[in-house]
Amino acid sequence: MSNKYGLPEEDLRKIRARDIKCVYCHKAMQEYRHTKGTPNDKATIEHLNKDGPFYWNKSVKFDPSVVAICCGRCNKSRGKRDLLDWFKTKYCTNSAKAINEKTVAEEPVKEYIRMQRNLEIFSINQLSSQLKQIIENSKWIFAKTMPDTPHYYVVKDNLSEDDKKMFNGFEWFIKKNGYDGEFYSKKYKYFNIGNYKYWVIGNILNRAKLNL
Ligand SMILES: [Zn+2]
Repeated sequence: MSNKYGLPEEDLRKIRARDIKCVYCHKAMQEYRHTKGTPNDKATIEHLNKDGPFYWNKSVKFDPSVVAICCGRCNKSRGKRDLLDWFKTKYCTNSAKAINEKTVAEEPVKEYIRMQRNLEIFSINQLSSQLKQIIENSKWIFAKTMPDTPHYYVVKDNLSEDDKKMFNGFEWFIKKNGYDGEFYSKKYKYFNIGNYKYWVIGNILNRAKLNL
């Protein structure tokens, strides 16, 4: 027996035993096995990461650390948001009892957040050695057509396969960790390393000297 996500009944039982109350707001929930729609206090399956896998079968091992049960109301409110982004919404901050990383269930939610942080630290460390390589070894081209805004760039297409991967990783990293800035009245995410700020436009990595 399994549910519609392909979750084995046995695993589902363990999750139900663990998440007796909503993992976010701690309210009591009901099963509503035969009710259509999603009542606010319905126990719903929640994927902590919104990337899935959403369906499990023999080839995809079920991972209970990314599946939880939360109430229909929290589930609807979170939607597809990243967990930490959702905590910033009015639904979470205005709740009678605020919903945030300190108030959610230890297992699996706090554990999940910690795991994500560790993953990020891991990938930043991995990234940094390769990044150093691309920053030091790339031939940075001066953008001659925009002398008023002096900056340099490298084009992804000209990089080695490994450095292309690094480019993608760095682009992702800037998106997640960078700060907002404008370049010719368009908004981009910037990230500072050493004396330079870095930003990506399409397949181009740009850098400009910081006014220190
Ligand atoms: Zn809830």
